[in-house]
Amino acid sequence: MSAQRIEGKVLAAAVKARAAAQVEQLKRQGVEPCLAVVLVGENPASQTYVAGKERDCAACGIRSVRYDLPAETSQQELLELLARLAADDTVHGMLVQLPLPAQIDEQAVIAAIPPEKDVDGFTPVNVGRMMIGQPCFLPCTPAGCLEMIRSTGISIAGKHAVVVGRSNIVGKPAAMLLLAENATVTICHSRTADLADQCRAADILVAAVGKPGFITGDMVKPGAVVIDVGINRGADGKLCGDVDYASAAEKAAFITPVPGGVGLMTRAMLMENTVQAARRAAEKNG
Ligand code: NDP
Repeated sequence: MSAQRIEGKVLAAAVKARAAAQVEQLKRQGVEPCLAVVLVGENPASQTYVAGKERDCAACGIRSVRYDLPAETSQQELLELLARLAADDTVHGMLVQLPLPAQIDEQAVIAAIPPEKDVDGFTPVNVGRMMIGQPCFLPCTPAGCLEMIRSTGISIAGKHAVVVGRSNIVGKPAAMLLLAENATVTICHSRTADLADQCRAADILVAAVGKPGFITGDMVKPGAVVIDVGINRGADGKLCGDVDYASAAEKAAFITPVPGGVGLMTRAMLMENTVQAARRAAEKNG
């Protein structure tokens, strides 16, 4: 069997086209959706991600404002900027690119973002709302994974989903979203004793480990849907995922590529969340 590729490019273009249409509508009502992005320091990967977000905003008609702060910025200075953005009614979505320099407490920074502008879906309020199934901003990467799984047309309910990785931004929320779709969910991590066996039991396998080629074909159940969240540099310097694509594609029914997979969907979901933030603000004020 050779798996069908789930094309992030195609799916992301559809999500962004939908967002752009909603932006047009909001602009006709006098609202210009705006995303503020704060970058601290000069992490090259973060700079690439932020530049991508700016391009996406431009493509969707969303205004973006970018704040580049030096690596030695104090937590207090960052919190002051966030307080200004929080109070600015022309800013609908705001985010701080992670990771942050060591002198800054990530959780304190996330907590300084008002839930209604938290388009990354990282604040405790949005995480809690997601847990109990209330309206919230879904974190972009797990939401993108779910869209990709849905695009295959398989029914998620009753399937066994295995998520490898339990980070707050990917693994845990991905597991929660799959649970909300009525999958039976297993979460694996670095202390999981029988990882390969767990993976082999997965109808839906989500890899969010951060290790190039970690999931190999022998760990994939025939006919599975494989979602590769990983963004790594391989030994050859090229971008690669957590899944060994060639061997996994021999077994899976559907698989996401890296690059061209979850990363593009993550970016698209951020646009969707930003438009949603602007719409909610407009509804509240109008
Ligand atoms: P973290 O480093 O925060 O989490 C990695 C997880 O993998 C941890 O839960 C860890 O377990 C687990 N893990 C590590 N080694 C093993 C092992 N040998 N066996 C089983 N589990 C293991 O990473 P993130 O969740 O932030 O990111 C994961 C990957 O996804 C990275 O490559 C990252 O670059 C990428 N990413 C991609 C995005 C996209 O848009 N496509 C967005 C965000 C991230 P433990 O908790 O026990 O340490």
